Amino acid sequence: MTSLPTLNSVVTCLSDYDPESLRVSQAIQIVQDFVRPTAQALESETVSIYDALGRVLAQDIISPINVPSADNSAMDGYAFAGSSITNTDSTSLTMIGKGFAGNAFTGQVAAGQCVRIMTGAVMPQGCDTTIPQEMVEVDGDVIRFRSNLVRAGDNRRLKGEDLKEGLAALKAGKIIRPADLGLIASLGIGTVSVKRRLRVGFFSTGDELRSIGQPLEDGCVYDSNRYTLFGMLTRLGVELHDFGVVRDDPVVMRETFSQAASVCDAVITSGGVSVGEADYTKQIMRELGDVSFWKIAMRPGRPMAFGSIKHPKSNHSAVLFGLPGNPVAVMVTFYQFVRNALLCMNGVTETAPPMMQAKTVEAIRKRPGRTEFQRGILSTDETGARTVRITGAQGSGVLRSMSEADCFIVLEHDQDQIKAGDTVGVVLFEGLV
Ligand code: AMP
Ligand code: MG
Repeated sequence: MTSLPTLNSVVTCLSDYDPESLRVSQAIQIVQDFVRPTAQALESETVSIYDALGRVLAQDIISPINVPSADNSAMDGYAFAGSSITNTDSTSLTMIGKGFAGNAFTGQVAAGQCVRIMTGAVMPQGCDTTIPQEMVEVDGDVIRFRSNLVRAGDNRRLKGEDLKEGLAALKAGKIIRPADLGLIASLGIGTVSVKRRLRVGFFSTGDELRSIGQPLEDGCVYDSNRYTLFGMLTRLGVELHDFGVVRDDPVVMRETFSQAASVCDAVITSGGVSVGEADYTKQIMRELGDVSFWKIAMRPGRPMAFGSIKHPKSNHSAVLFGLPGNPVAVMVTFYQFVRNALLCMNGVTETAPPMMQAKTVEAIRKRPGRTEFQRGILSTDETGARTVRITGAQGSGVLRSMSEADCFIVLEHDQDQIKAGDTVGVVLFEGLV
């Protein structure tokens, strides 16, 4: 991969860097300054349009044709020359033929004449205007309409108005969405050059973790973080490398971190990064890499490790995100710090999802000095205003609060208590894509 900078070179640009007390905005800034498109973002592969959904476009798609290829009618009605519209109350035209989509009228249309035309049919020669059929009285082969109902050029789609031949229809770095598939198909293109998927390794650490299928002894929990990470990473369209649950054993831990660093562009772990952790996670991260241990002024999600780790022999390195262990904290820190970083590494040019506003229906306890990410459900009140309420208990281990929610309620760093009816920022979990 493209060589990573040192963390030190990145943080020295920040005036008040304190890993023990970092604002969310600072952490985002450091991550952003540290990561860069990896070498894989320059590698591409060609896939069928059916396999292109969610992938990242590797090259601009230059339109080989005009879409539409000719001026055509936007309505079912009658096509004619706009100059035939009279200055009097009503205009009469003589119908001389019919034009359908895929079967155009090929003759010339003179002043005072018109052609029955269907949506999508090529505008006959001499025509620049369509009057919709419902505005017209028909009497044999004469049509009549009120002259003020239509102006020259109405209801006509221009050649190339959607896509112009020779121009970029889509730009490299775009994530391919359903509309893009249709747009690519509208150019007659069936294969797409996409960037190679980013390789992302992930694993859980903690001796209390049990895997599905194992008995659950007292004090143990099933490993859920690997599954939320699996879901979030799958949505991002990366290549997954699941290293399972890693026991708190320095040999196994060292081996897993090294292996992940050697094959992955990024490695994401959960657990073992908080203060007073008895396990080896932090020690091995330190040993293998250039890693900072942060305390971020946020809730949930305070502890986090960030930097890079290197395979000791091959020197191949990967960006490291050591996320906290609490299940909600994993998701919050992923969406805040990891998501955009992985997209950037993958050469994606898109930005973070927009923050919207909603009125909270209840008071929310908050103290200044940290950013909080509460889990909310959006709704609309009787006036049509967007409202939000909290999904019950907000502990960082209460994964149900995420599962029931459809948005984060983002309470900014300096914000104080919030009263019912106050406006708060919300970020939707799902985008309309
Ligand atoms: P840690 O960050 O390791 O101190 O973990 C914080 C809390 O998260 C503890 O209650 C852990 O049991 C829990 N936890 C850590 N990893 C996982 C995991 N993979 N799945 C579910 N819970 C976890
Ligand atoms: Mg732990």
